[in-house]
Amino acid sequence: MKKLNYPCPCGGKIKWKKDEVMMEGINCGILDIEYCEKCGEEYLPDDSFKIVEEKLKEKGLWGTKREKVSFWKSGNSVTLRVPTKIAKELNLKPKEEGHIYKEGDRKFVVEL
Ligand SMILES: [Zn+2]
Repeated sequence: MKKLNYPCPCGGKIKWKKDEVMMEGINCGILDIEYCEKCGEEYLPDDSFKIVEEKLKEKGLWGTKREKVSFWKSGNSVTLRVPTKIAKELNLKPKEEGHIYKEGDRKFVVEL
């Protein structure tokens, strides 16, 4: 594996170590990590990043931050409340329109 030697944005020196990587609560195993001696920031090199990506995809967690939602009956349709945190992050406004579509049997996606 190619080991890059570049400084951290804080000016500190990047070192390498092997450590257990936890992402989204998933143990991705012992991977190579770059870390900064000065500020403690950790970076995932490409090879480790790919392993983490695979692990999260396996669990269906890749690129998702999960929030629990409840469905409410409203006439013949079902209402879904978007959690405040997600609404804020997406800057959702009432009466704004989006599109919804099914993706697989147990998933739907809303696009703004
Ligand atoms: Zn640093």
